[in-house]
Amino acid sequence: MGEWSDYFEDFPEENPANYVDGRFAPQEAKKLHEIEAKLEEDQRKLNAEVYGLINDSIFKSNQKKKKQFLVKTISCPQCGELVLNCYSPQENLFVCECNECGIYGHGETLDLALQLVESRVGENFDWREKSKNKDL
Ligand SMILES: [Zn+2]
Repeated sequence: MGEWSDYFEDFPEENPANYVDGRFAPQEAKKLHEIEAKLEEDQRKLNAEVYGLINDSIFKSNQKKKKQFLVKTISCPQCGELVLNCYSPQENLFVCECNECGIYGHGETLDLALQLVESRVGENFDWREKSKNKDL
């Protein structure tokens, strides 16, 4: 039995991914998907950037200070390790980050922050990405 991808290779007109606004337009669709992927990648980088800014401005790389804001540490929804630290450095701001896999999120409440973390499972988010990418 063939895979769907094989099937779609033989019958590209059967693949819903090859349609743009209801028209069969595989080239156009491919372009659009590339653009979408690029946008997602940009968004991911932007998120890391924003989180890096939050992190920098609030904690100023002062890990001791950071610890004062620790609300709790829970199991990470992505890697399962008990190292997802949740901080509340100020009113209406919660940030969560995993020390193992690097997934992170922030929000006005702990629930919102954790929802964001959960929505990012499997998407390669890493709050350390910004510092890793620094060419310094
Ligand atoms: Zn993790």
